[in-house]
Amino acid sequence: MAVPKSKITRSRRNNRRSHDALVAGNPNECPNCGELKRPHHVCSSCGHYAEREVVALAADIDLDDDAA
Ligand SMILES: [Zn+2]
Repeated sequence: MAVPKSKITRSRRNNRRSHDALVAGNPNECPNCGELKRPHHVCSSCGHYAEREVVALAADIDLDDDAA
């Protein structure tokens, strides 16, 4: 429920905001390349997940061959 701003003391306001802080992420080290990555996500630098490659890197895809 909305309360007039003047009714909220600095103490009460700041106590309410004491739980509002953002927490930092908890990155893991990639077992393939050693880069830090988000837990349960594909590594963004080597495309590996659970020690196997699941996403090819753009640098490794040959765009020049005439497969069509
Ligand atoms: Zn990696």
